[in-house]
Amino acid sequence: MARIAFIGLGNMGFPMAQHLIKAGHVVIGVDVNNEAMERLIASGGNAADNVGAAATGANIIVTMLPSGNEVRQAYLGADGIVERAATGTLLIDSSTIDVATAREVAAAAEAKGLLMVDAPVSGGVTGAQNGTLTFMVGGEEAAFNNAKPILDLMGKTIVHAGGPGNGQAAKICNNMVLGISMIAVSEAFVLAEKLGLDAQKLFDISSKSSGQCWAMTSYCPVPGPVPTSPANRDYQAGFTANMMLKDLKLAQDAAKSAKATTPLGAGAAAIYDQYVDSGEGTRDFSGIIRFLRGE
Ligand code: NAD
Repeated sequence: MARIAFIGLGNMGFPMAQHLIKAGHVVIGVDVNNEAMERLIASGGNAADNVGAAATGANIIVTMLPSGNEVRQAYLGADGIVERAATGTLLIDSSTIDVATAREVAAAAEAKGLLMVDAPVSGGVTGAQNGTLTFMVGGEEAAFNNAKPILDLMGKTIVHAGGPGNGQAAKICNNMVLGISMIAVSEAFVLAEKLGLDAQKLFDISSKSSGQCWAMTSYCPVPGPVPTSPANRDYQAGFTANMMLKDLKLAQDAAKSAKATTPLGAGAAAIYDQYVDSGEGTRDFSGIIRFLRGE
């Protein structure tokens, strides 16, 4: 059984770490939030005082942190993972961060003889709890092969997307589609309301027609048609508007540096920016329909 350091035990990290504990691994957690640490210990995990202490002696290190700044600090900071991890240690960063930082950290890790993958996820908190996440993995073949059995404990679909940073590239491209399509589906329901077309009727038709997409059939932004969608619980997140905005901004930054044309991605980022500005950042991202209604 491996000794696994797990850094970042929030909404996603904690349930992911639980799967590793259940599989019999020794999990040593680090989180700046004491409550998160207490939850881990109550679930059979162990606590370390800081990242350097957790990294020392670990066979595998998993990070699930909010953004690129925390990831950079955890890996490249003084007493951080790259400094403390022993040669050959497997590093898995599952945070959603910018491609440039992911590649910079991977290069520093490789230079120290560490095996690193960027492995951001899709599937949200429910996917993390059920162990059904999709992992989009960037990294060298050897690092991917080592990471695969660990990722299998936390996810259902594990895809090797290419070299370092390509997992993050896949994640932001996917979430750009999601942000745009959630706005598109929401606009359609708002228009239907104005035209006197019942929401359930639009769903019945569109979910079987060319308007069908995940935002419509799995995460419908109006209450009723999909009982599990956040619309049925006052848009309690789920996946917050703040997180969607973060990913849309990452996509725009990447588009700018890669000189890709993404006008709908830019539009979606601007709309979510206004929605978050209106004070709804912690609500589910499907709540964008309220903003479009002018509520
Ligand atoms: P979260 O805020 O619930 O968890 C992050 C945790 O990291 C917190 O417990 C925080 O205290 C801890 N933390 C912050 N800085 C730290 C540091 N320097 N050292 C140690 N711990 C630190 O966020 P989350 O929802 O778990 O998301 C984590 C990552 O997963 C993000 O990058 C997010 O974009 C991505 N993600 C989230 C979802 C989702 O549905 N929540 C889905 C896919 C991807």
